[in-house]
Amino acid sequence: MCYTLIMKKIFEKFNIEISEKQLESFDKYYRLLIEYNEKFNITAITEKEEVYVKHFVDSLLFVDMLNGENLIDIGSGGGFPALPIKIMRDDIKLTMLEATGKKCEFLKVVVSELGLKDVTVINGRAEDLAKDEKYREQFDMCSARAVARLNTLCEYCMPFVKVNGKFIAFKGQAGEELEEAKNAIKVLGGNLSSVYERSLDGAKRSLVEIEKIANTDIKYPRGNGKEKKCPL
Ligand code: SAM
Repeated sequence: MCYTLIMKKIFEKFNIEISEKQLESFDKYYRLLIEYNEKFNITAITEKEEVYVKHFVDSLLFVDMLNGENLIDIGSGGGFPALPIKIMRDDIKLTMLEATGKKCEFLKVVVSELGLKDVTVINGRAEDLAKDEKYREQFDMCSARAVARLNTLCEYCMPFVKVNGKFIAFKGQAGEELEEAKNAIKVLGGNLSSVYERSLDGAKRSLVEIEKIANTDIKYPRGNGKEKKCPL
């Protein structure tokens, strides 16, 4: 069986319908990831099928739950979950915020090589950018995968979300982190609306969905590492 067909079957196994053009985009993305990984150390996962499952499909497990026009992804790293989402949902306007300059360079190359429109890559930290009125409470959705524990992550992400918008955290097992983040969610103007669960080849994956029900007080994020050192 040719490789394109094998990759198509991987998506289909997880009920993700995919076009030839989208498959080509993922193929290009994979090649760039491997090429740049040697210089930029983007991911420990490099074997093709593993990248497709653990990065591409994992980013798309909850794609049907997204609603809104405007998404900011915090700590995008090599582009997960943001770029797979953008490949599948070209209608979404995407901003990726990443603290490491080299990873931003890589993200810009992928965006350009794949011809993705309405994508902005910002090199910076969430704690700083969230204070900028150009970005504060401007997004329908804010996503993050593998960036911090949920209580810390809420303080990084909630300030970007508009009232009535959603913060969506990609997690493995969410249980313990949810309990720990209860106060942060409340203080930052959020309300836990749902926890969706899916299986990725036997591994439990969760999407924690927090709706924004009130403005976030301007004193958050507190900065100086407090989000991590003493979470709300
Ligand atoms: N989201 C990607 C994924 O799931 O593969 C990358 C995960 S990687 C473990 C965490 C990334 O978040 C790193 O690239 C790091 O530079 C970035 N990061 C961590 N804290 C951040 C912050 N406060 N603001 C912006 N980026 C941050």
